[in-house]
Amino acid sequence: ADAQPAGPAFTAPGTLTPVLTEHWGEDRSWTLEHYRSVGGYEGLARAKAMSPEELVGLVKGSNLRGRGGAGFPTGLKWSFLPPMDGQPRYLVVNADESEPGTCKDIPTILANPQALIEGVAITSRAIGGDLAFIYLRGEVAHVYRRLLAAVREATDAGLLSTGFGLDGAQPLRIVAHAGAGAYICGEETALLDSLEGRRGHPRLKPPFPAVAGLYGRPTVINNVETIASVPAILAKGPDWYNAMGTERSKGHGIFSLSGHVASPGQFEAPFGITMRRLIELAGGIRPGHSLKFWVPGGSSTPIFTPDELDVPLDYESVAGAGSMLGTRALQVFDDTVSVVRVVARWTEFYQHESCGKCTPCREGTYWMRQIMLRLEAGKGLPGDVEKLEDIAGNIAGRSFCALGDAAATPVLSGIKRFRGEFEAGYTTPARELFPYRASSIL
Ligand code: NAD
Ligand code: SF4
Repeated sequence: ADAQPAGPAFTAPGTLTPVLTEHWGEDRSWTLEHYRSVGGYEGLARAKAMSPEELVGLVKGSNLRGRGGAGFPTGLKWSFLPPMDGQPRYLVVNADESEPGTCKDIPTILANPQALIEGVAITSRAIGGDLAFIYLRGEVAHVYRRLLAAVREATDAGLLSTGFGLDGAQPLRIVAHAGAGAYICGEETALLDSLEGRRGHPRLKPPFPAVAGLYGRPTVINNVETIASVPAILAKGPDWYNAMGTERSKGHGIFSLSGHVASPGQFEAPFGITMRRLIELAGGIRPGHSLKFWVPGGSSTPIFTPDELDVPLDYESVAGAGSMLGTRALQVFDDTVSVVRVVARWTEFYQHESCGKCTPCREGTYWMRQIMLRLEAGKGLPGDVEKLEDIAGNIAGRSFCALGDAAATPVLSGIKRFRGEFEAGYTTPARELFPYRASSIL
């Protein structure tokens, strides 16, 4: 009942704006035939009548920001590419969606892959590229097959046959590449290493990929949702997009709710919607329980409690309240959940995924894991909580890439918000304080 057609009229707080998700669930929504029947590829037709400079200007004017988590202005990133010098430049789409709780890019590729391909075509035209890569996380073979089929459909239909490259007259080739399943390969420079056939290790920045990226050439790297948002902006115009959202976080995005809500799933809404409203839309906390804590953007973002339910979910407000909007992976935990157990699982994840390149993260995540497992088992040693704070404090800000900061975040914010539960780990196992149940998600 809350789903309404997209448009500036639906900027009222708390309404949904299905654009990318509008046709999910319809019969064969992933086919080119379906996509064209609902207006697909109108954006590309408009883009082909525009110069690259006009396209970059239009996307800049829409105020679209990177949907991979960081929220960097998309048009600005495109404009960082040096002037065309006769050498190739690339678009790389980051489809390595791996942040715990994040579930928006893979559903988009499954249900609406042509929006991504149309976005790839428009972006390639804007940057003068004729070769684009989509780097998909390796575990999802069924998504890879769907993506390959969608690229083939668009290519066979002649949609990519001309209008690209430095002279704007070349065909566009799109290469779908499946990774081998490493979280670090979602970090953009590790992704580039992996795509080049090497072990995925983050590179020093600067130079940013816009200047020296894939094979050392200027490269735009954007997230799936960012690129898939571009066709509607072309088709409906930047004013339509700017009419949604908050002052500095314009437009709409997919908020994915998981955990202890009655109906978890993806909710596409303008930035500024609140968690209170999203939980309502998801049918509320499961019956008989109350909300204990939640995270706004996956495990890398500091923990919120029910006190923050009315914080507008835009980049600035969430940061102002002490967390990060990140990927909008809203994970909900009710009163049956042990914070210590959750943080222990996240810490195990980061320790496993640490690439090992730098000492604070490689050693620190291992030490944090050992202490978290002791506390979870009720066998904490005197001073363990302070030791955790010390180790996490020495990882944050001292690691080579954002994974180290991310690993420190749940530990530090968990202790800050629920210190008593961590201290209980000196004497009492988490399973005694919060017994497992069949319905428990952790
Ligand atoms: P970042 O802020 O360092 O960079 C964001 C983007 O802007 C990058 O593409 C970077 O190249 C570009 N950029 C920044 N400054 C630039 C400059 N001066 N010149 C040219 N380009 C510039 O963030 P990041 O480390 O790329 O990403 C961190 C985010 O990733 C976190 O906020 C987290 O939410 C998110 N994340 C997402 C997932 C997922 O599964 N989607 C997983 C882990 C983390
Ligand atoms: Fe690798 Fe962790 Fe260092 Fe990043 S912070 S480079 S993942 S060891």
